[in-house]
Amino acid sequence: MRKKRSVLQYAIYLPTLMMVGLWLASKSRPGGWDVTVPQALTQVTALVALNLFGILLLIASRSRSIERIYGGLDKSYRLHGQLGRVGFILMVLHPLLLIPHYLMTGKNPVDLFWFTDFWPRNVGIVSFYLFILLIAITLYRKLEYQQWLTTHKFLGIPFVLACIHTLNANSDVKAYEPLRDWVVFWFIVGTLAWLYKTLFYEKTAKKYRYAVAALEGKGRGIWELRLRPTGARMNFEPGEFAFISVRGNPAVPTELHPFSISSDPVRHQVRFSFREAGDFTRKLTQTQEGDEVIIYGPYGEFTSFNFDASKRQVWIAGGIGITPFLSMLSHESLNGDPKHVTLIYGVKSKEDAVYADEIDSLVAGHEDEIRVIQHCSDDQGFLTADFLAQELGDLNGTLFLMCGPPIMMNGIKKGLIARGVSPDQIDFEEFNFV
Ligand SMILES: Cc1cc2nc3c(=O)[nH]c(=O)nc-3n(C[C@H](O)[C@H](O)[C@H](O)COP(=O)(O)OP(=O)(O)OC[C@H]3O[C@@H](n4cnc5c(N)ncnc54)[C@H](O)[C@@H]3O)c2cc1C
Repeated sequence: MRKKRSVLQYAIYLPTLMMVGLWLASKSRPGGWDVTVPQALTQVTALVALNLFGILLLIASRSRSIERIYGGLDKSYRLHGQLGRVGFILMVLHPLLLIPHYLMTGKNPVDLFWFTDFWPRNVGIVSFYLFILLIAITLYRKLEYQQWLTTHKFLGIPFVLACIHTLNANSDVKAYEPLRDWVVFWFIVGTLAWLYKTLFYEKTAKKYRYAVAALEGKGRGIWELRLRPTGARMNFEPGEFAFISVRGNPAVPTELHPFSISSDPVRHQVRFSFREAGDFTRKLTQTQEGDEVIIYGPYGEFTSFNFDASKRQVWIAGGIGITPFLSMLSHESLNGDPKHVTLIYGVKSKEDAVYADEIDSLVAGHEDEIRVIQHCSDDQGFLTADFLAQELGDLNGTLFLMCGPPIMMNGIKKGLIARGVSPDQIDFEEFNFV
């Protein structure tokens, strides 16, 4: 499973390699290389940028098959962010690289950035400025997540304009059919994915109607939302997450937010446990019994079913990162053949371990297979790979699953790799898409 996934991850490079290959092939036609080096570079950077934007729009469509290729929706979204950054740099390089060409041929480089009487060029210029404007807004730190998301939605427009520009400018794309077909293919794929996500996702994606059964404060800013189905129940695997949207309560915005499911799949009700992190999660504490909640999902590849083959596992939770493990633990305690699991529950202080009692009751009777270690950073310092080695001894042949603050997960991952653990044996869920 893990091997297959890591091979599939290379799927990202294939379309871009294909684009570069077709561009090189286009150059074999008579006069194909009659360009200066800056011109050649500007052509290839634009084509690769276009392909990356097409791929990232496809990733953002939240398709179940696409997220599987990249190891889950959270990882797909992170890849989406990385591709966006690379694509943006290449896109900015596209006109910048033409400056030396303009200087070499005695033209005024300023003309590159202003409109002409050639419409495909003007479309490219509009696309370029729109990209810059939207990215600048996106990078503006004070933006709330929802505003950031709204701005992000418009990024499909400059993509469409960039494709129109590329297909109509006097270039290799116009002159060489296979290259044109490849650009058209990504134009269609990217545009359809963007339209689907922007206009149709909320209407057409798999969703389930639930109602609030109870909301309970666990203390330390952590809350539990229990939902009962009012229609078909959502099937999910332990460790998966879903987007929820509360309807009809003026105190809670209807916007979609992702949360890991902290209950196990056999229960009638579904439970989400959340920490007050900002505006939405604060308002979520205003939900009332009976409020309608639409659940979109489930999503994710951080599910214990994917790791069934690894009988020796270490689960590392930091704070609210315990949520997917609560579902997995409940599943293990019910399935009659539990894996050998060590759960490390990392919290700041003992009082922050609001799920300690629930964990104890789930583990009761399975102490031979499931070991729980509570780690309080106030007393013991940060949770590190050294601590794991000290507690667990030999780390080889163990699968490590982590969910918690990125700084904790990255530090532990680095430490584990330094101790000889293969990166293939480490997986994590990040409570962040950006
Ligand atoms: C896969 C996944 C699973 C998660 N599971 C849990 C969980 O079980 N319990 C829990 O407490 N939290 C969980 N989160 C985090 C939770 O989604 C955010 O804390 C919440 O959306 C914050 O919203 P806010 O407006 O209160 O805070 P803000 O201050 O607006 O946001 C805090 C940060 O959360 C992220 N965020 C905000 N809104 C969204 C959104 N709509 N979609 C994606 N990310 C967003 C942004 O990175 C933002 O910077 C999970 C996140 C992901 C990606």
